[in-house]
Amino acid sequence: MFLLKNFSSKVFNDEVMKHHLPSGTYKSLKKSIELSLPLEPEIAPIVASAMKDWAIKNGATHYTHWFQPMTGITAGKHESFINSINGDLKLEFSGKELIKGEPDASSFPNGGLRNTFEARGYTMWDCTSPAFIKGKTLYIPTAFCSYNGEALDTKTPLLKSMEAISEHAVRILRAFGNNTTTRVTPTVGAEQEYFLIDRENYEKRLDLKICGRTLFGTKPPKGQEMDDHYCGRIRIRVSDYMYDLDEELWSFGIAAKTKHNEVAPAQHEMAPMFESCNLASDHNQLIMETMRTVAKRKGLACLLHEKPFAYVNGSGKHNNWSLATNEGENLLDIGTTEKDHMQFLVFLCAIIRGVDMHAGLLRMTAASAGNDNRLGAQEAPPAIISIFLGEHLTDTLKSIASGRRVFDENSSDVLITKVNTLPNPPKDDSDRNRTSPFAFTGNKFEFRMLGASASISLSTTVLNLIVAESLEYFSDIIDSENSLEKSVFKIVSETVEKHGKVIFNGNGYTEKWKKEAQARGLSNLSNTVESAGEFIKEDNINLFEHFGVFSRSECNARYEIMLGIYCNTLNIEAHTMLEMVDRQILPAIVDYSQKISTTYLNMKQCDIKNTTLLDNIDMFSKAIENITVARNDLNKSLECSEFKDTFEEAKYYCDCVLKNMRALRKHVDSIERFIPKKTWPMPSVTDLLYRV
Ligand code: ADP
Ligand code: MG
Repeated sequence: MFLLKNFSSKVFNDEVMKHHLPSGTYKSLKKSIELSLPLEPEIAPIVASAMKDWAIKNGATHYTHWFQPMTGITAGKHESFINSINGDLKLEFSGKELIKGEPDASSFPNGGLRNTFEARGYTMWDCTSPAFIKGKTLYIPTAFCSYNGEALDTKTPLLKSMEAISEHAVRILRAFGNNTTTRVTPTVGAEQEYFLIDRENYEKRLDLKICGRTLFGTKPPKGQEMDDHYCGRIRIRVSDYMYDLDEELWSFGIAAKTKHNEVAPAQHEMAPMFESCNLASDHNQLIMETMRTVAKRKGLACLLHEKPFAYVNGSGKHNNWSLATNEGENLLDIGTTEKDHMQFLVFLCAIIRGVDMHAGLLRMTAASAGNDNRLGAQEAPPAIISIFLGEHLTDTLKSIASGRRVFDENSSDVLITKVNTLPNPPKDDSDRNRTSPFAFTGNKFEFRMLGASASISLSTTVLNLIVAESLEYFSDIIDSENSLEKSVFKIVSETVEKHGKVIFNGNGYTEKWKKEAQARGLSNLSNTVESAGEFIKEDNINLFEHFGVFSRSECNARYEIMLGIYCNTLNIEAHTMLEMVDRQILPAIVDYSQKISTTYLNMKQCDIKNTTLLDNIDMFSKAIENITVARNDLNKSLECSEFKDTFEEAKYYCDCVLKNMRALRKHVDSIERFIPKKTWPMPSVTDLLYRV
């Protein structure tokens, strides 16, 4: 069996470490991994040497410090193991090379954190995420920070947030008499949506190659209205791709589990089994990279953009989040005893309180130019933050807040009897929760706002921190009360009273909900420009500073970077549109109208007066004019460069450039269907969605 034999075969995993390391070294490393402690310096050379021998035996010639700068993707400089020792060439890998690297940080986003004269950045081995071999390179997962120690990546804050939530979750567990748990780890399973199209067609579209999405394209005759793609038969070419993808992911130790067709034609989904959020985050990056490379190998292109095609659904990513103790207990499992229920309620209330207090911040973690095309468009959750708990759990919380006992064996309405049926909830509950951005799904929460291409790090970091903050607050309540029962009552009633407004079990796609949410005062940040400011809101800076995750200047830097990436994305999309219009689309329309003009004139010479052709010539002439005017408007709007700050620039892109892009697209799309297939200079959306 491939799966059993090759699962994790490319990973320097526990079994390999045990086999290759002296037992004292193995024990010390294992302790560092389990307790997230720094590596003992004296074992680094031994681990490095064993890792190198194993990597070389498995075909590697190079190593890289793999990190996740604020570009949303991964990076690394590849070095060969070749070293010269006293003039002799040898394959070497030192302890120092394993634990620390010094890439030049000047070409990565830093939002002003790094002075230009100090270009150095550092990568440091994160031994809690195992090294692995990809191609001929040994990948060493690392955190990346500046010379002054500020985080320049997405991993460093995530690791710090894990420490924070572990500390405060353990404190709650102690209050419930648990003296054995030493660590609580957030677990994450990230479901990943994607489109798969034919590579030959992909190569013919400049917009797909440069921007990852189609910037033009008339509506295909058939979209998703027949509901015949979701979980339908997987076509042979796609199925073949999915098997190859699974095999490659398994070899990296990623337990790819579920695969199916999604709602839109050519859209699919993959879900791995959940694991520690740090690993899940590294693995999600590896999943996205592998999806792209396997597709290329098989003559396909994998699109991870949030909205590759207008008129059909875009792609998202669901961050399934829970908390697990090092003894294997899921803290969002309702449990069976009175104590279990009370403990569950404390964690549940911490989540409700955290999400309500930092709703805008959580929404911001899903903000990007790509996801702006999708959120709130009836295919993804609305931009309003609310929590779905299901009617029963909501009623239970309310009745406990009004004084009912948590666990009343004489009542038929105790948590255990009804809530335990949640994995199989009544139909209306399960249907409606699909429209919720943050839903309780039995023993975990599912954050459904993320776009397909997003890293899960920031959303997970924020979830960890907002819950840690509330757990800390609740611990103080528990410490000040003389009975657990009383504290739980206080926690539940305060949460229901102050934060119950964030709970919503209805249909999130309706206009009525938008109005109601506004009346409740819920956060509704409709795009990236509105959301980015959450990074520099006082409440949120305090949250990050309190847990030592970001300083004020790091918050500022991330705010700048987020807006900068937004402007750059739109700028590139706008220039791609101009290039396509000027060099492909306008010439094609001119060519074709010339052809029918000639036909018309020839007919006229034969005394045939064809008014239909004349109408068409008129239509093409108007289209050429409209497209030229729209393209000039867009071009002009890109010339503006006088901005007070990045926010003003981003707002300009959102209000003005984007509007001009949409206007240009409208004119092009409406003429496309009148131009013959062989004259139109690129494959149509119909060709893209239905070729594989
Ligand atoms: P659904 O299909 O309803 O969205 P699934 O049970 O198929 O839910 O799970 C979806 C994702 O949630 C999977 O990636 C799975 O590993 C993950 N998941 C399940 N349990 C947990 C948990 N305790 N913590 C984090 N993720 C989880
Ligand atoms: Mg899901």
